[in-house]
Amino acid sequence: MAAYRPPLQDIRFVLDELVDLDELCQFESFKHVDPDSIHTAIEEFARWTAEVVAPLNRIGDLEGAVHDPETNTVRTAPGFADAYAQFRDAGWGAVPFEADYGGGGFPWLAGIVMQEIMSAANLSLSMCPLLTQGAIDMLMAHGSEAQRELFVPRMVTGQWTGTMNLTEPEAGSDVGALRTKAVPQPDGTYRITGTKIFITFGEHDMAENIIHLVLARTPDAPPGTKGISCFIVPKFLVDDDGNLGERNDVACVSIEHKMGVKASPTCVMSFGDEGGAVGYLIGNENEGMRYMFTMMNNARLSVGLEGLSIAERAYQDALEYAQERKQGRAVGAAAGVQSPIIEHADVRRMLLLMKSIIEAMRALVYTQAETIDMANHHPDPELRQYKQLMAELLTPVVKGWCTDMGVEVTSLAVQIYGGMGYIEESGVPQHYRDARITPIYEGTNGIQALDLVMRKLPLKGGEVVTEHLSLIAMLDPALLRGGAQLASIRSNLAEALTTLADTTHWVMAEGATDPRQAMAGATPYLRMFSLVTAGALMAKTALHAAERLDAGTGDADAMRAKIATATFFCAQVLPQVHGLVAPVRAGHDQLFAIGVEQFAH
Ligand SMILES: Cc1cc2nc3c(=O)[nH]c(=O)nc-3n(C[C@H](O)[C@H](O)[C@H](O)COP(=O)(O)OP(=O)(O)OC[C@H]3O[C@@H](n4cnc5c(N)ncnc54)[C@H](O)[C@@H]3O)c2cc1C
Repeated sequence: MAAYRPPLQDIRFVLDELVDLDELCQFESFKHVDPDSIHTAIEEFARWTAEVVAPLNRIGDLEGAVHDPETNTVRTAPGFADAYAQFRDAGWGAVPFEADYGGGGFPWLAGIVMQEIMSAANLSLSMCPLLTQGAIDMLMAHGSEAQRELFVPRMVTGQWTGTMNLTEPEAGSDVGALRTKAVPQPDGTYRITGTKIFITFGEHDMAENIIHLVLARTPDAPPGTKGISCFIVPKFLVDDDGNLGERNDVACVSIEHKMGVKASPTCVMSFGDEGGAVGYLIGNENEGMRYMFTMMNNARLSVGLEGLSIAERAYQDALEYAQERKQGRAVGAAAGVQSPIIEHADVRRMLLLMKSIIEAMRALVYTQAETIDMANHHPDPELRQYKQLMAELLTPVVKGWCTDMGVEVTSLAVQIYGGMGYIEESGVPQHYRDARITPIYEGTNGIQALDLVMRKLPLKGGEVVTEHLSLIAMLDPALLRGGAQLASIRSNLAEALTTLADTTHWVMAEGATDPRQAMAGATPYLRMFSLVTAGALMAKTALHAAERLDAGTGDADAMRAKIATATFFCAQVLPQVHGLVAPVRAGHDQLFAIGVEQFAH
């Protein structure tokens, strides 16, 4: 298994060429940072992560987190608490948060780059700061000033961690079915009772307090999502100065035994075994679901990014193995000598698939992070609104496609290892097992597809998706100027875009008249949309690489590799869109042609 090497060269390329760090650093919110300081911070974080966090990935998988039923405490895997303490003390978790609350005041994009590195080094450990980040976002957007001042600075530093408590046994994708109760008290607090399941880092030994954000229903709440409120439920109650007081009535009663991310405790949380946990309402009653929606772009970007991270880690292992493992004689090699498997065409195919998908994912994830920074911080309010809508459109694409690709790329890594890929000691199965949760949590990918088709395509009467497709079309003249070198990228992208535009038209028309038709084809449509978006980003990559080659700047071999990789993606991955037309348009009736009882044969 290869030691993880943060892919700084490719990260640097995307930051220099595909997004505009210079522009972000002009904004009032980021005026005290500059691109150089961002690069320096990323490099330092990458060094620390590779040295301290990455080596704990395997032990985390082997030993996992352990629940003690006597005390209802959770012991994290060996080395985790120490690594987290170093992360906290260095202030790494604070990087993308507002300086007024103890943050580093860096663009979200910088935080996302660091998150990519952390999740690749150790997906399980990275989930603790990730969930904390989600809780901070919620408090910053919807908490009262007093709540923000009390909780946020300690969560920004990592002294306290955060959780998101949505899921219940009967309420997963259907959050509106949740039953946890919140009863108002004369002192303005609430008493929370109920059970939450699958709560990431709901209990652990790495921080002195855990701030649970809990969705619950007040006694007179309307049914469904319109009756959900959001509460702060600290593990230890705190006074106004943040001093820890009594233990609150919340406990982790067990943790799950999982397929992957074994070192991330997935907790069953019981609220109110002794009468009711003390909870503090965030914002207004019955608005919890609306608040969750405002955080979704960030949260889903972070999970999409996990697909990228784990794919990169698996790719590094597979590449090293393919160079070392010798089997068979490659075409043209001397007789009697075994060749490294990287010399075989089919192994090349798999490596190029992995490499090209990873580069496309990185371009997509960083571009989305830049869009979110623009939506939050650009001085022009109209542009902020425009970027907000673009971020919303692409959220299900980033989450859905990158996590599906994380599974596909880690599976390819297993394949490249051959039989050893199926053997745990090789370390490769862990990546595949770890990746498998990402298409499931933070809204399953089936739900992402429905989100794209039913909520995002109709944004502003279809103007937002039309704008997205026009931006892709606008790459054409530059690709034409690129001549023979970019000709196949240009034609493949143009053909794929036509197919997507026609299919989008069909989906929107059907969605308006008979939504069942559009819903039935949502998942293949999400794939089609994602492939074209990724293809456009690969085309942009090739354009920038070609410009650098012409200008004689940068590493010429690396730029030629970029163009070759983009050409491969557009020739071998992108054309899948044409085969997706039939599944998108097949419609509802085909899926319901047999009755439930006829599924058994
Ligand atoms: C390791 C792990 C960590 C997690 N961390 C957290 C956490 O920190 N906090 C938290 O609150 N939750 C967490 N979850 C829960 C996770 O978000 C849910 O498991 C997920 O939302 C799916 O819900 P479910 O398991 O009930 O599946 P279900 O909702 O029962 O879905 C089952 C299948 O049906 C499909 N389906 C369901 N409804 C529809 C529909 N309307 N249309 C089409 N298809 C549909 C789904 O796509 C899926 O394929 C975690 C889960 C795991 C395993």
